[in-house]
Amino acid sequence: MTRPPLDQLAVDRLAGVGPKSAASLASLGIASVQDLLFHLPYRYEDRTRITPIRQARIGDCIQIRGKIADADVQTGRRRSLRCLIEDDSGALCIRFYHFYPRLRNRLAPGRLIRCYGEVRHGREGMEMYHPEYHLLSGGVEADAIPEALTPVYPAVEGLPQNRIRKLMAQALELLADSQSLPELLPDRLLGDFGGVDLAESLRLLHKPPPGIELDRSGRSHDNPARRRLAFEELIANRLCMRRLKLDGSALQSPRFGGAQKLPRRFVETLPFRLTGAQRKVYREIHRDLSSPGPMMRLIQGDVGSGKTVVAALAALHAVESGFQVCLMAPTEILAEQHWHTFRRWFEPLHVQLGWLTGKTRTKARRQVLEELASGACKLLVGTHAVFQESVQYQRLGLIIVDEQQRFGVHQRLSLREKAGTGSLRPHQLVMTATPIPRTLAMSVYADLDCSVIDELPPGRSPVNTVMLANHRREGVIERIASACASGRQAYWVCTLIEESEVLQAQAAEATTEQLRQSLPDIRVGLVHGRFGAAEKAEIMEGFKQGEIGLLVATTVIEVGVDVPNASLMVIENPERLGLAQLHQLRGRVGRGATRSHCLLLYQSPLSNWSRERLRIIRECNDGFRIAEEDLRLRGPGQVLGTRQTGLMSFKVADIGLDSDLLEQVRDTCDELLQSHPAATEALIHRWLGGRSDYADV
Ligand code: ADP
Ligand code: MG
Repeated sequence: MTRPPLDQLAVDRLAGVGPKSAASLASLGIASVQDLLFHLPYRYEDRTRITPIRQARIGDCIQIRGKIADADVQTGRRRSLRCLIEDDSGALCIRFYHFYPRLRNRLAPGRLIRCYGEVRHGREGMEMYHPEYHLLSGGVEADAIPEALTPVYPAVEGLPQNRIRKLMAQALELLADSQSLPELLPDRLLGDFGGVDLAESLRLLHKPPPGIELDRSGRSHDNPARRRLAFEELIANRLCMRRLKLDGSALQSPRFGGAQKLPRRFVETLPFRLTGAQRKVYREIHRDLSSPGPMMRLIQGDVGSGKTVVAALAALHAVESGFQVCLMAPTEILAEQHWHTFRRWFEPLHVQLGWLTGKTRTKARRQVLEELASGACKLLVGTHAVFQESVQYQRLGLIIVDEQQRFGVHQRLSLREKAGTGSLRPHQLVMTATPIPRTLAMSVYADLDCSVIDELPPGRSPVNTVMLANHRREGVIERIASACASGRQAYWVCTLIEESEVLQAQAAEATTEQLRQSLPDIRVGLVHGRFGAAEKAEIMEGFKQGEIGLLVATTVIEVGVDVPNASLMVIENPERLGLAQLHQLRGRVGRGATRSHCLLLYQSPLSNWSRERLRIIRECNDGFRIAEEDLRLRGPGQVLGTRQTGLMSFKVADIGLDSDLLEQVRDTCDELLQSHPAATEALIHRWLGGRSDYADV
């Protein structure tokens, strides 16, 4: 039997894929069976062991097995189904906030159940929310515990892990036919990877056999299968960046005039003087914009260093030269905030602005689209919606992307494709607050030039950062009460390692409930990723206006949010976050005149390693130094937060573990471009092809 090669076999040919799942798969960039096979786990869970309940610790992800002792539906602020599980060593509650009525009957007392989930601090002590569970019909003896690590895949709503795992099993079966997936790298170049072939490597990462050396995130330096794939992925990425750069330099871009009236007038309206660093970076941008060839520039600057003002200057330069500008932010909250800022700045200069997100209503939308097409609207602010096909610019000259860490090379690729208007390619300016050591920046942003704002505006007092164990929560709540009583405001940030937005939202809701009870005199607001845009905007506005005293949030507020009156931030379980992310979060306070504080409410006991990391955050307020210390402790892959934030969106490669490959990657790319040009296209397609969407935004 001959089968088509897997890159030509549509994924809906797999059993059980209907139009709905096909659409969910498509939103993950998966169209063919090959795409599915290259949708690799980003971590693994260990369900090969059962943990006695007595050994459960808050924050651990464990598997327990026991008898259902009790199950009931509890009411209160939120209805939930609670189920008490007992084993020989103790008892623990599992809780469901979303459930079908029949689940309650299925969880009948006396039945045996096995659950996997994170242990959390809940209403009745230690609890698991929405664990994965199996009801055992035979006895414990018949319970088939997985023998291998369980892969966890990047997922989307409507396509749960279990479904992905089942589809992957089918795809792996098709892979057994060695003809089905061509090797794209010449044999000669693959000698160093222990002779494992592509199919074997994929099989190993999707279904790691028991006993294999993989850590939780599947990284192991010595695993030839992982290294083999990482090598190919790095090659594909580099080829892609080379292509971006080549495409770019061959293109013409708008050439802006030398006049600076608007930027100058703008600077005069500002209530502060630009810092030397802001001036320096603007000069670099100005030079790019007045020379032929598209600018591709990255601005790096610590939180609060004032990147937005520099972007505004560049935008005004474009407008003055008769071009339009679009500014894209990765989240609705951030886009909304830029919209307010730029309106405040540009309206007095009579520069017309527009606003567009995925949720803009038809009428408003039509109007904005008309104004863009006619050229009346000079600056469009929004989310990724600013690049939808229906958006036609009259004369787009400059694209500004804020908080670049959320946009990997895939996004830049598609942005390029979407932004092309005729023969002129707009200039691009991307801004990021994630400080990246220079050597890394070169490999991550091989297609961008780099400017650094290495100076903070004067008068900022460093945020006083303290570490407190979780049992001192009461004291922390009192501090919030007193801060609010004296007219200031506070953030409470909930963290959760779970990738699920639902669980994150639930944790934040539970915390809000508790805080409302303990702080009856304070208006407590809540935002998380599952709120609609309008709702989010309303709450953020309430916080900005000072109507809300305490804002509980998930890490959605990590980037950009600017409320100077907020001077206190509590971060729960900071040990779970990367240092760069903590520094970002902390940057939300310390923006006004009052001395600001950041309380790191950690789960005790802390490991020595976590203590060391938090010490860095406590003692240091300089993002670049933090990044370097973090680099020393954790290696580059982690610092960049690749897996969490999708900076580079690598599936297997890890710049830290695989940096020794980079030279070989470079040479191999050169060789491929010379002698195997067809393979280069196929490689880019295989690793980056279908992912030009903005699924995560
Ligand atoms: P980030 O680099 O984190 O995006 P922003 O551009 O949001 O920082 O700037 C942070 C705050 O500092 C804003 O309120 C902004 O108006 C203010 N700011 C920017 N530049 C200066 C300056 N040169 N002097 C004083 N304040 C400034
Ligand atoms: Mg910013």
